Amino acid sequence: MKLKFFGAAREVGRSCILVEGKSTRILLDAGVKVGEEEAEVPTIPNSMLQSIDAVIITHAHLDHCGYLPHLYSNGFNGPVYALKPTLEIANVMVNDYLKLSNPRDVNKDWQKKMQRKEKTVEYHQEFRVKDLALKLVPAGHILGSSMVEVRLGNERILYTGDINLKTTRLLEPAYTEYLKADTLITESTYGGDKDTWPPEKDVLSGLMKSIKTTLDNEGKVIVPSFAVGRAQEVLFILDDYMRSGTIPKVPIFVDGMIGKVNRIYRHNVIFCKDELQKRILMSEDDPFKSSNFVMIEGKADRSKVLKHQGAAIIVTTSGMLKGGPVIKYLERMGSDSLNKLLLVGYQAVGTPGRELQDGAKEITLDGKKIKMGIKVETFHLSAHADRPQLLRLAGRIQGLKNIFIVHGEERKMMELAAALGKHYKVTVPVLDAEYTT
Ligand SMILES: [Zn+2]
Ligand SMILES: [Zn+2]
Repeated sequence: MKLKFFGAAREVGRSCILVEGKSTRILLDAGVKVGEEEAEVPTIPNSMLQSIDAVIITHAHLDHCGYLPHLYSNGFNGPVYALKPTLEIANVMVNDYLKLSNPRDVNKDWQKKMQRKEKTVEYHQEFRVKDLALKLVPAGHILGSSMVEVRLGNERILYTGDINLKTTRLLEPAYTEYLKADTLITESTYGGDKDTWPPEKDVLSGLMKSIKTTLDNEGKVIVPSFAVGRAQEVLFILDDYMRSGTIPKVPIFVDGMIGKVNRIYRHNVIFCKDELQKRILMSEDDPFKSSNFVMIEGKADRSKVLKHQGAAIIVTTSGMLKGGPVIKYLERMGSDSLNKLLLVGYQAVGTPGRELQDGAKEITLDGKKIKMGIKVETFHLSAHADRPQLLRLAGRIQGLKNIFIVHGEERKMMELAAALGKHYKVTVPVLDAEYTT
């Protein structure tokens, strides 16, 4: 098979990989890289789009699905395959992206076309696109997230999408039984030499201690979060520790798209881990509806939170402080050293979140310079595999010979390549170049 990388080559964002069989062309993911100005999009030429037979979406983060409506407006006419929750969440995400970014070549009609072309697939069920056989298996990253196996005769490629090999509050880990592939295309977000997560219990006890200190001093704790995945994990963790009395009972305000995504998670709970399904189905105890959460719907609710006296926790979008309600909260609460900002997800280079993580005392939000007196702390609750997990995954794949490393910062990719290169032929692909498996 032939491969071409139209994005996520030596970068995180705009994932889009062309796989060619003998007579078939498919795309694995169609993402955008949302920046300050217009989003960066994959480099696939529009003239090629009519020849693409199908698109497979691994999961509903915009860096994997945001380019879908553009594909249709620029000439693609084929189906888009993904798990049911992926398609549902992708529609919410794409809708929000179109509203915020207002790209020139796309309008609502193209999103409607995309919806008409959606085809739901199940985990572990092989389906065909002409001469290619495809199978999606759980990736453990967010609801519906998948790895994709592409087979042409006896030759197999496995693409991780974004992957997590550890169980979380909501999801089972990635499926790593009976994996077989000649070629692996792996993400490498945390593939660097120093990217080894400390034990989760240590992270959580540090996190709770930190939250407790701020709440005891009547401060506010702001947790910026991706609407999908991170937010649900964070809310479940906070709810658990509040119920057990580890942290004081204060309102947990939930703002941004998180509420909408929670509802999709809840009605797709069949895709969450068994333990959570049992908890909801066999008792009245539904953590999605915990009385500790106060859902913020619109500006009126938000202005009440902005005036809220005393301790509180605010979980809100966006995860890297590039827009979303978190900006409003930081404008009001960011200068006060009683308050705390907790970074719990990936912070891309060039985002205000990353600047704060690196120690900046002043950042530009929404075009305004804001002095940051607020305490900033980072806790690794990432939904991505760390380096040992990425190495372990490769080791579990039967017959593996070639590895392509995508979706990472270049330095980390090279560090991961050095380790994997001892056992496999490793390529860190460049944009638009063609490779043969
Ligand atoms: Zn992701
Ligand atoms: Zn990603």
